[in-house]
Amino acid sequence: HYTRRPIATDFTGFFMSISAFHPPLRTLMGPGPSDVPPRILEALSRPTIGHLDPRFIDLMDEVKTLLQYVMQTENTLTMPISAPGSAGMEACFVNLVQPGDKVIVCQNGVFGGRMKENVERCGAEPVMVQDAWGTAVDPQKLEDALTAHPDANLVAFVHAETSTGAQSDARTLVELAHKHDCLTIVDAVTSLAGSPLKVDEWEIDALYSGTQKCLTCVPGISPVSFSERAQQRISNREHKVQSWFLDMNLIMGYWGKGARRAYHHTAPVNAMYALHESLRIVHEEGLENAWARHQRNHEALKAGLEAMGLRFIVDPAHRLPQLNAVTIPEGVDDAAVRTRLLEEHHLEIGAGLGDLAGKVWRIGLMGYSSRIENVTQCLGALDAVLADMGAPVTHGVALPAAEKILAA
Ligand code: PLP
Repeated sequence: HYTRRPIATDFTGFFMSISAFHPPLRTLMGPGPSDVPPRILEALSRPTIGHLDPRFIDLMDEVKTLLQYVMQTENTLTMPISAPGSAGMEACFVNLVQPGDKVIVCQNGVFGGRMKENVERCGAEPVMVQDAWGTAVDPQKLEDALTAHPDANLVAFVHAETSTGAQSDARTLVELAHKHDCLTIVDAVTSLAGSPLKVDEWEIDALYSGTQKCLTCVPGISPVSFSERAQQRISNREHKVQSWFLDMNLIMGYWGKGARRAYHHTAPVNAMYALHESLRIVHEEGLENAWARHQRNHEALKAGLEAMGLRFIVDPAHRLPQLNAVTIPEGVDDAAVRTRLLEEHHLEIGAGLGDLAGKVWRIGLMGYSSRIENVTQCLGALDAVLADMGAPVTHGVALPAAEKILAA
């Protein structure tokens, strides 16, 4: 017999004080999430339908086709994992790595370190190729490691290191790996849709990304793609994939095109509407145009920041347009600046991660956040806050410098 009793009476006052959550309006110029345009937010709020509804299955097919376009691939095993970028990373490792394997991991920032963790947790041996943070992965170092470890069967690296803003030469690194009979895992969380990335032309074997960066969608989904070679390795595994949720053989039963769709997990239905809309937006703009927009807005922001006297940590040849890491001027309180930007200008920029904590700001220009109005808002706000704090930078010159680039 059930009687309804008041619960946690001590907290009644507390519960009464909880009202609907209305987030403040921010301009997001950190390392992600980026600003989500109204079109995507509107798609997210459409009525939820079943994850096996024939109309939802149609949407899934379109999401796959659009992802193939954005990744520039015809890989049939291309789909969004229902979890954030870290799950995409893990999906690539748990499916392609078996206990006892030797995996070469190139590390030039935070995320290469997570790849090492993944290799170890798969019971495999990581061989680390280290490069300084802020530099690209050195192909010669990879070649040396491949020669020294002929028994390695996989190479993993981050295409766009969000912790530093450095971009590595994915095509060359993949070519080297293949020359030594290794497959490749490429982290494209920050590069996808922001800078050139061609899965088939560059012959990448496994790639994962995230929705919250240049796809400018809500966080929490990770698009992945596996080549034929990678699919074969997954099918020929001796050991079961250690993760049930991320086992590609099982996920294919739900996402495989033309397959009889069977229940695997309940897809985040509304988030898929949002991803579908975000991919439509990239397709409408055209991938090359999206890459060019990211580059142009970067040039404008760079002109403004450098005119103020801020210095980029990555050399121009390897600089990501969507992630601008600049050194914090001597004597300036990192956290105080970011707090004032947030509170007074509703602007979020990123702090340094790992070894770069307290040393750099990371200013993102990703997806819908890569717009002229964001560039000018950021430069204006940063100039105002730094001037007020008496920071050793040149004031009043950032916006004219940026505008000169935008007018050209
Ligand atoms: N890899 C890179 C390069 C990233 O920038 C991130 C997130 O910022 C991740 C992996 C992890 O993605 P998520 O935070 O969506 O799990």
